[in-house]
Amino acid sequence: MTTHFATSYPRTGVTVLGLGAMGSALAARLLDIGYDVTVWNRTPGRDTVLVESGAHPAETVADAAGANPLIVVCLLRATSVYETLTPVVEQLRGRTLINLTTTTPNEARALADWADRHGIAYLTGAILAVPDMIGTPAAQIFYSGPQPIYEQHHELLDTWATSTYDGADPGMASLVDLAMLSGMYQMFAGFFHGAAMVGSEGMTAEEFARRATPFLRAMTSGFREYAAVIDAGDYTAPGQQSLEFSDLGHIVSASEEQCVDPATLVALQGLITREIAAGHGSEGFARVFESMRADTGDRTAERIA
Ligand code: NDP
Repeated sequence: MTTHFATSYPRTGVTVLGLGAMGSALAARLLDIGYDVTVWNRTPGRDTVLVESGAHPAETVADAAGANPLIVVCLLRATSVYETLTPVVEQLRGRTLINLTTTTPNEARALADWADRHGIAYLTGAILAVPDMIGTPAAQIFYSGPQPIYEQHHELLDTWATSTYDGADPGMASLVDLAMLSGMYQMFAGFFHGAAMVGSEGMTAEEFARRATPFLRAMTSGFREYAAVIDAGDYTAPGQQSLEFSDLGHIVSASEEQCVDPATLVALQGLITREIAAGHGSEGFARVFESMRADTGDRTAERIA
């Protein structure tokens, strides 16, 4: 594993709860760097390699929680975190919990409230990487919650990935993570749909990928231009491709002619049509953002209430 970050850290004790693919990678990286690591997993036997590398196995989650001042949790989902930690809240009181389990923003906020009620210092982490990337700068992990917790453990966090602090709202790291994944999945859906279209006439997905990759890569340069338009909120500035020009009806028709389900495209077409129907057809394509975006004023008021 690459050790491109600083390699001399104080050898503080860390507990890692959850030794699935990701939890194991996180624990392994800490061991590589020289941390004193205690590990626990619900199903026994998943700690063998880590223990061979020097990790201390904990028989119970209570033992694991009580072993160190810092507890890292990486379980399947938010409910797994409650199931695992609720029985040991007393052991966790006064300790720090960094939760790297994927959660929705509201799940992260609820977990932060839960931790606060039990006297546990809590930081949300959201991993944008696969396990093999842990310990390389290509891995990204976003954090949100109390800044002092982030600052205190910054060096340790940086051993896993490129860390970004996303502010005090414990839901923010989850939100950024899931927004990134939304972009990724919709990009892949577009690729699958295109592959199904040409596949209906025999072109292999491999050939389509070969031809689509440079085109789509080039198109990502458009993000910055669209972002400037969205942030300025001006969809009438000259030089923008209009919504009317962006009508996807012909692509939907082509898909249907080839008996390929255009569902993903139809969803986008619906947003375009909504903006055109509202009288914005001559404005820029990025106006689709207005069809999607949250009314942040109401949402903020709702959360405060
Ligand atoms: P795995 O399926 O490999 O492991 C899941 C882990 O959660 C296991 O340790 C499992 O224990 C534990 N678990 C599940 N339910 C419970 C429960 N009710 N109580 C106690 N333990 C439970 O998943 P990953 O390790 O890959 O993922 C862990 C987290 O990391 C997830 O939230 C995932 O979204 C996130 N993540 C993973 C990425 C990846 O590429 N793998 C990428 C980014 C984020 P047991 O062995 O007993 O089943």
